[in-house]
Amino acid sequence: MKPSLKKNYTAYINGGFVPSQGAVFAATNPATGEHLAHIARCNAADVDTAVQAAQRALPGWKATSYEERAALLNRLADALEKELPRLALIDALDVGRRIAETRLDHQKAIAQYRYFAGAILTHEDYGRPIPDGYLMVKREPMGVVGQIIPWNVPALMVALKVAPALAAGNTLVLKPDENASLSTLEFAEIAGGIFPPGVLNVVPGFGEEVGAALTAHPKVAKLAFTGSPEVGRIIAHAGAERLVPVSLELGGKSPNIVFPDADDLDAVVDNALFAALYCNGQSCLAGTRLFVHDDIYASFVDKLASAASRLKVGNPLDESAHLSCLVSAKQGKRVLEYIGIGKAEGAKVLFGGERESVAGCEAGYFIQPTLLEVRHGMRVEQEEIFGPVLSILRWSDYEQMLKEANGVPYGLAAGLYTADLENAMRTADALEAGSVWINQYFNLSSGVPFGGVKESGIGMEHGRETLNIYSRVKSVTVRNRVIEPWYLG
Ligand code: ADP
Repeated sequence: MKPSLKKNYTAYINGGFVPSQGAVFAATNPATGEHLAHIARCNAADVDTAVQAAQRALPGWKATSYEERAALLNRLADALEKELPRLALIDALDVGRRIAETRLDHQKAIAQYRYFAGAILTHEDYGRPIPDGYLMVKREPMGVVGQIIPWNVPALMVALKVAPALAAGNTLVLKPDENASLSTLEFAEIAGGIFPPGVLNVVPGFGEEVGAALTAHPKVAKLAFTGSPEVGRIIAHAGAERLVPVSLELGGKSPNIVFPDADDLDAVVDNALFAALYCNGQSCLAGTRLFVHDDIYASFVDKLASAASRLKVGNPLDESAHLSCLVSAKQGKRVLEYIGIGKAEGAKVLFGGERESVAGCEAGYFIQPTLLEVRHGMRVEQEEIFGPVLSILRWSDYEQMLKEANGVPYGLAAGLYTADLENAMRTADALEAGSVWINQYFNLSSGVPFGGVKESGIGMEHGRETLNIYSRVKSVTVRNRVIEPWYLG
């Protein structure tokens, strides 16, 4: 199966792919090593051209009515729906993820465009009459927004950034990840046929080159980033340097807590594996630390290992596979290294832990679902691995368990399973996380905001709050006639 791809991709600026004579890099299928396309390795000059195009487009786009923006976002969603099978296949080949998952990514992404088309229509300015006039409190777009995204879920990462920022009236320069640029460049062309030229520009390339140039550009009025805390800090510094607002969606090491009274432990087992292994574990929201109560520990862990043994690791295009290929050899080696670190720290491997060979995909890093029995404080329990590795902790004392659940630098999400509503709500309140899911894991329905506390980031995405991080407030006081200054009495 091969989607139609261009041989060469360049930056998409001002409504078209711009010619590029510069360096290129290769997009490669991580499962097979097969070459997919060449992509321009853009530089600071390309970023400047893109920012200028976005600046020229800003007054026109800012002046569009909310209805017009909503209509165009819905048209984009319609166009993406038609292209969904092709775009999902591109992502499966480019990133190594299961095609069933990349299809879902695109469905969730499309839902974002539709959600923000609706949300902007309810994004009301407000005001009140004052003597001889009126006070208005308006929301304005920030201006040209620079956005930088990672490789793990390309379609959704694009949608989480693009949909609210365009709905709020900004123009954009977006940098995809060097490991996953193809579907974003295809997306740029589709969106370019719908939005006015310059409203959405995509500049591919490397972080230290394009990313750094975008964050430092004096005309970029807001920065939005998803990726590692290390790079998040660099971007926050760049924002501080120019005093522009920065929103950050960074890593996670989310706890998933099993109470002994959970009503269906088999369903909890499925949730625990789904939480840790979806996306091959390459998700910042993954529930990678499973806290299992002492009373049920032995039987629960047995069920978990036996369910893990039934999961199929397979070709990204295999519809029956549950796990597939990691995004790159670098990432694969990193995950195996972490498993080694865990063993050296005294973690017990309850299942998996090895690289697996998949026929026809010998180049790929396929790693077994891996269950590690750990203690709080081990590196595998503290650091984000971004692979199919679940750390399991046994708990008996509630307060101690909470301390350990919160005892990581991150605070993105948390899951918990109990039949006791009061316990559920009390625990949800005590967990340091931007999202808490009770008796399920992941809720990515439209409009459910997510974002992190502590080192997991600043600002919420995926909900109507996001319109606020892409707009600023202006108050306007209008008097019907010139009045005396108040300090004269
Ligand atoms: P991951 O660990 O998921 O690869 P990174 O934080 O390394 O995440 O990268 C996420 C995004 O940030 C990518 O698009 C990458 O190119 C970009 N990036 C990396 N370094 C920088 C930098 N110094 N400045 C701006 N962007 C960067």
